[in-house]
Amino acid sequence: MASDYSANIIKVALDIPVPALFDYLAKEADIGDIGARAIVPFGAKKLTGVVLGISENTDIPVERLKSAEFVFRDIPPLSGKLLDLFRFCSAYYHQPIGQVVLNALPARLKAQRPVEIKRPRHFSLTEAGQHANVRGRQMKSLIDRLNESSGLSEAEIRKTYPAQALKKLLSLGLVDEIPGKALPLSISPSPQLTLEQAHAVARILDEKGKFQPWLLYGITGSGKTEVYLQVIARILEAGQQVLFLVPEINLTPHLENLFAARFPNTGIVSLHSGLSDTERLQGWLMAQSGEAGIVLGTRLAVFTPLPNPGLIIVDEEHDASFKQQEGLRYSARDVAVFRAKQEAVPVVLGSATPSLESYRSAKTGRYGLLELRHRAIQSASLPRVRYIDLRQEKRKSGLSEKLIAAISVRLNRGEQSMVFLNRRGYSPAMICRACSWTPSCPRCTSRLVLHLKLGRLRCHYCGFVEKIPPACPECGNLDLKPVGHGTQRIESELGSLFPDARILRIDRDSIRKKHDWLGMLDKIRSGDADILIGTQLLAKGHDFPNLTLVGILNSDASLFSSDFRASERLFALLTQVSGRAGRAGSPGEVLIQTEYKDHPLYRALEHHDFDAIAAMLLDERSAAGFPPYVHQALIRAEAPALDKAMDFLEKIRSAASKIAQGVTIFDPAAASMIRLGNMERAHILFQSASRIRLQNFLDELLSNLDPAASRAVKWHIDVDPLEF
Ligand code: ADP
Ligand code: ZN
Ligand code: ZN
Repeated sequence: MASDYSANIIKVALDIPVPALFDYLAKEADIGDIGARAIVPFGAKKLTGVVLGISENTDIPVERLKSAEFVFRDIPPLSGKLLDLFRFCSAYYHQPIGQVVLNALPARLKAQRPVEIKRPRHFSLTEAGQHANVRGRQMKSLIDRLNESSGLSEAEIRKTYPAQALKKLLSLGLVDEIPGKALPLSISPSPQLTLEQAHAVARILDEKGKFQPWLLYGITGSGKTEVYLQVIARILEAGQQVLFLVPEINLTPHLENLFAARFPNTGIVSLHSGLSDTERLQGWLMAQSGEAGIVLGTRLAVFTPLPNPGLIIVDEEHDASFKQQEGLRYSARDVAVFRAKQEAVPVVLGSATPSLESYRSAKTGRYGLLELRHRAIQSASLPRVRYIDLRQEKRKSGLSEKLIAAISVRLNRGEQSMVFLNRRGYSPAMICRACSWTPSCPRCTSRLVLHLKLGRLRCHYCGFVEKIPPACPECGNLDLKPVGHGTQRIESELGSLFPDARILRIDRDSIRKKHDWLGMLDKIRSGDADILIGTQLLAKGHDFPNLTLVGILNSDASLFSSDFRASERLFALLTQVSGRAGRAGSPGEVLIQTEYKDHPLYRALEHHDFDAIAAMLLDERSAAGFPPYVHQALIRAEAPALDKAMDFLEKIRSAASKIAQGVTIFDPAAASMIRLGNMERAHILFQSASRIRLQNFLDELLSNLDPAASRAVKWHIDVDPLEF
């Protein structure tokens, strides 16, 4: 009976690599179910999807139209704005809409059962409670605590008091649950802003309530965080929400504490990969209901529902971790800017070393430019950067005598030192001194990385592991020596040089869990470590008050990289690492071991002159026709044999050349690492000075793709790629 179907066809987004919605019959569904989850049959399986539309019509023949199993009404549906954001990402990154939508949902919402919303509860004293005289130490103390505050959350109470204490006071009518959701906003005292900070805060607030992108370009230690905090305070006062994105999960606990201390009554949700499914779900729901005033998270948090956003902040905006490198290859920073536009709110991108993309946008006036050129604490000056010329200095396991002497001076003064290893484009390996053989991965073309402690060689790209061979497989030589200097080798070398020093190694291997990391941070801050050895992890945004020396090893490797972004990244990294030294009163020193001490990048670093290096790099990029002067997209293909991947890309090229107006098409090329996990990889690059041209070109190219050819290989598209 056809009439049964009227207005009851739901169009569902599913996590299927097909750029389409799927139609199902759903009798009771109505327009209010757009944005709700639904369980639908798909082949032999049942899938959870999201309803994106409702209609009376479908192109599916009636006899093939299946019924949806269930439409969820356990939580409010996704808002129209959020669905628009997904549609934008689907179009811009050329990913099927269903995969975009499902990628953004917490795992529990993709499961096939309803979820329960757990509202955080808050309590305060009743009229009677304010004058009550109770027995029992616990209850007395709780009443005192409640008397001092305008209310406490259940979680806060349960930290100190047993469940019965609260229960008893409730039953006595001395305590009551605060109706509604939130406690009144409370803002703890904040420091007097510097002139530069005050200026930045005022300018952002002047443009509150409309779309305005800002680049907050402030040297390390200039107090960008305080600028954020004071702007956030005004947004919270206006009853709006703040979305705060950071590149690294390790930065969230520190900021979470900072926010909680400044805004004790504000709901703060921290969303990152370290959460359990339930924690992530409840945080997401608090954001969706508006109970969370601040949503803090790594890149995926850019898709968090926010009914009432007032501000988006992207801290360390230059960081490559904002770009997802698989599946939906989105840049959370760029999506944040789009979202701010959609929501008509300001977005603040903060960095000491902005991406050249954002820097140029600020210089050309597309973004507002806010500069902090001085450190916030008067007595803290920028560290002195000096170079140790490796062409003249003797080295011991990678450490020059000058660096060792400098560490020794710090040890005698009771100050901290850090030895920083640049891991990009560099890794410790093994070499045969007789024939120069080095072990490489049998599955990739990459060199294997040596892990001495484990006695293993490991491939950092495909995960291959093998034992260190007892002798050279080429010439039989027994004298296999490590080359390069991994964190573990430096650790053992420093250990034998300074047997009494407390040495702390910080890398991905030594901090598997969030807890280890917090413990280590505490150790560093409280002065329980003398020498820190670390990689990228140590560079980002942490305050180490007692650190006065930073030694940098292996940074030369990035100077001559084939990756056109290597210099930009090296400068950002070295600036950040240098910024760790000498923050609170004691001047810092940075010693860089190099064979190229006169390189312009090192010269600029010595003078803390990001503008100089940015100008130089932008000139290079402009001359070479690289981003930010052009926009790029990459199609990558992989197959068991390179030929196959290249064949596919050749087909793409010939199709592309027919429609390429204002778009440059490059030759298909093997990837810099050809073999990865038993597959061989290649790519083809497209670029255009016009983003819209490039987008239109990609639309046309992909819609005309030969389906047979595209099934022969594994391939994907990467818009605004960062890796080649
Ligand atoms: P950035 O993020 O720009 O590198 P931070 O926000 O970490 O800098 O600030 C550096 C230090 O300066 C921190 O210890 C911070 O508490 C302090 N600070 C920031 N602003 C002020 C201010 N207005 N008055 C006093 N101290 C400040
Ligand atoms: Zn050999
Ligand atoms: Zn490998």
